Amino acid sequence: MDSFVPVPPRDVPAARTPLRCPICDQAVVDVQIRDLGGVTADIAWQVHAGRCPVHGWFQAEIVSQPPREIFPVNRPFGAARRVIVGNEEIYAFATVWNDVPPDVKRSRVDPLDPKYWKVRSLRVSVA
Ligand SMILES: [Zn+2]
Repeated sequence: MDSFVPVPPRDVPAARTPLRCPICDQAVVDVQIRDLGGVTADIAWQVHAGRCPVHGWFQAEIVSQPPREIFPVNRPFGAARRVIVGNEEIYAFATVWNDVPPDVKRSRVDPLDPKYWKVRSLRVSVA
């Protein structure tokens, strides 16, 4: 039987994601979701990647909770890259999940709830 064959990471093409471009907030395309499986059945562990036609690839990892950061990457599941916004170099975009009260963090929220995937407003200086 096949019961003991290791299960490789599952890539889900054309999947839906709350991920949006952290720079221009448009929906990303070419979405790829890698399901890394859970340590236990009730832990959702996924990496979501998507491409903004203007700003390139981004990805975020969820481990039962919404992502804390959205990272610019050179390709799906690839190396981090930096982006320049205004005059700032940015390696990670913090999400509003960081600002959620502790009691909400401890509660069971839907890790795919788009409201927690919004990025904190960028501190881009306006000349
Ligand atoms: Zn963009």
